[in-house]
Parts: sequence; C-alpha cells; structure tokens
Amino acid sequence: MRFKDVVGHGAVKQKLIQAAKNGRVPHAQLFLGNEGSGNLALALAYAQYLLCADPGPEDSCGNCSACKKMAQLSHPDLHLAFPFGPKGPTDTSAQYIPEFRDFVQKMPYGNLSDWQQFLSTDKKQLTINSATCQQVIQEVQQKPYEGGLQFMIMWYPERITRGMANRLLKTLEEPPRKTVFMLVAEREEQLLPTVVSRLQVISLPKIADFDMLDMLSSRFEPPLERAQEVVNMADGNVRMAVQLMQKEESRSSFLPLFQEFIRASFQAQFHLVEKQAEAFAKMHRDGQIDFFRYGLHIVRETQVFHTDPQLLRITENERHWLSKFAAFVPLEVAYGLQGVLEDSIRAIQGNAHQKTEFMGAAIDIYQTFKQRKA
Ligand SMILES: [Zn+2]
Repeated sequence: MRFKDVVGHGAVKQKLIQAAKNGRVPHAQLFLGNEGSGNLALALAYAQYLLCADPGPEDSCGNCSACKKMAQLSHPDLHLAFPFGPKGPTDTSAQYIPEFRDFVQKMPYGNLSDWQQFLSTDKKQLTINSATCQQVIQEVQQKPYEGGLQFMIMWYPERITRGMANRLLKTLEEPPRKTVFMLVAEREEQLLPTVVSRLQVISLPKIADFDMLDMLSSRFEPPLERAQEVVNMADGNVRMAVQLMQKEESRSSFLPLFQEFIRASFQAQFHLVEKQAEAFAKMHRDGQIDFFRYGLHIVRETQVFHTDPQLLRITENERHWLSKFAAFVPLEVAYGLQGVLEDSIRAIQGNAHQKTEFMGAAIDIYQTFKQRKA
C-alpha cells in the first residue's frame, strides 16, 4: 500500500512523512478513524514508507524489494494481529495471516463484519485472544530481519480480550528497539485509557468530498450526478462509497424509488406500497439497507434545508425535488421520518422480515405526517 493508494488525508500524510524525515517516528501510535476512513490503509502505507529503500518526498518508491513485499503484506518485518474466531485457547491470529493478507488486498477499507464474512465464521464473536496477545509480545522481542524497523500492526485493538490489554502496557510503553506499534482503531472509548495514554494518537479527519469524488471518478468513471449522490451518502466513508458504486451497475439512482415510496405512504395508498414492498423483498439485504440509508440522507438534508440551506449536500436532481418536498415536510416531521428510517435500518440489519418491515415503515411514515396535520 502506497500513500497514493490511500484516499485523501493529504495533511496527515505530510505530517507522517515529516516525522520520518526528522527521525521522530513514535514507537507506539494509534491510527484512529471511523469506518471507511482508511486507518488501516494509512498505517500500512506509512510502514511501507519507513521500510522503503528509496522513499521519495511524498511516497514510497513502489519498486524496491521492501515495497514489493509490503504490497503483498509479506515483508518479514511486518507483524500483524487482528480479531478472529479462536477454536481453542492456544489459537492465534497468526494462523489466519494468509486469509488476512488476501482480505486486506481485496478490501483495504473493509471493516470487522467484512472480515467476518470473508472468514465465513458467522455468529462467532471475533476477538484478539490471550494467546495472540502473548504472541504479539514475543514477536516484537525478536530483532528485525532486515535490520531496519519492524512493525506490529494491531487491527481493531478494541477486540483485545479483557485483561490482556494490561499485559500489553509495558511493551507499548517501552517497545524493544527498532519496533513500532501501530494500533488501528475506530472507537477510542472502547480502549483502556491507560493504553491510549501510551500511544501517539493520529486522528483521521473526515475524508474531504473532493478527494472522495476524485477517487470515484478515477476508479468507476460514473456520471457526475451519480458520483455526487454517492459522495453525499457516503459522507467520508470510502467503504460505503465503493460498495454503493459497485452495486450501481445493477440499478440506477435511489431517488425515484424513494419518491414513489414517500408519496404512496403519505397518501396512504397501501396497495401501491404493497407492490413496492414485493419488489423491495427481492432486493439483496444490503441493497435494502442502502435504500433506507438513502431515505435517511434525504430526510437529513430536508432538516438542513430548513436550518441552513447553504450546507446542503445534494445533487441537482435532488435539489429540484427537495425544494418541493421540504415545503410540506416541516422540521419536526423530518425528525419523525428520521426515526422511522433509522428503525427500519436496524430492523433489516437484525434480519426482520423484509416485506413486513417495508410495509410497517410506510404506515409509520403515514402516521408521522398525520400527527402533524392533526
Ligand atoms: Zn521502495
């Protein structure tokens, strides 16, 4: 992974490179960023930069032996630890390194549930168990193979088994020479404060819209209108943007679907809603969630329309419709609709019966409007 492959975060990259040039790379760092922020991608790109035999002013060279090994995640001085589903107490994540390499190469912005699906260990809680923590401590005691730095990247340290984080403290505080710990996390509040206090925190800001647009345009060449819609919906989450774009081949914009759904619900035309529900039930579950997420996006933008229209993040098509929609959806109704759609997303994620949920959402939407009129 090179810096150029990491979407956005120009300022953070510059800071990291500057620290490398000044010889001030912290021994224990926390790459903290929301889902789809690229925290893992950035940690890997930084490790590659630091291992590269011929680093340039802005990126690793991509050609040296270290870079080639890093591209495969097979550099001997790259150690990895991550959540997995242990079958016995002595199992460690090291047993799943080949799968993990494959996963990260395919989905560098993937999250824990993507990894779970990739491993096909549904239902099992993924953890970084005690045996893996012990192994982490042992692995960094060895000297780097190639004489430079060695890296221990821990993905989702939030999942370290209770009690084990304490065992890591001493190693994090004083890592062996030439060892750099990189913890890659989403939720700081799920980490022990004593752990966080030993780490240099690199907080990733939200990826800028123009960086996201740039990435989508070069990877997918979508029509501008659709690219803008995806950028707005993804709101800085590369994982979501890529997913939305990949599904794009099989369908066009959600806007007309959502318009029909809202109209039929508002007018209590439940025979129409039922037809829509049948089509909805045939969609893939992820697509169903995306449909409600899209609705949520529109409803939130309706709130923005009422409070600060300058901040609207919508496409031209949406703007045209939203200005009319907002005229009969006052702020309090928009908040009500937000609740309905959030509940629907949770229900579909929780394996609710899809057609029933869709019909239920339509009734709740009707009620939300009706309460307002009453
Ligand atoms: Zn290189």
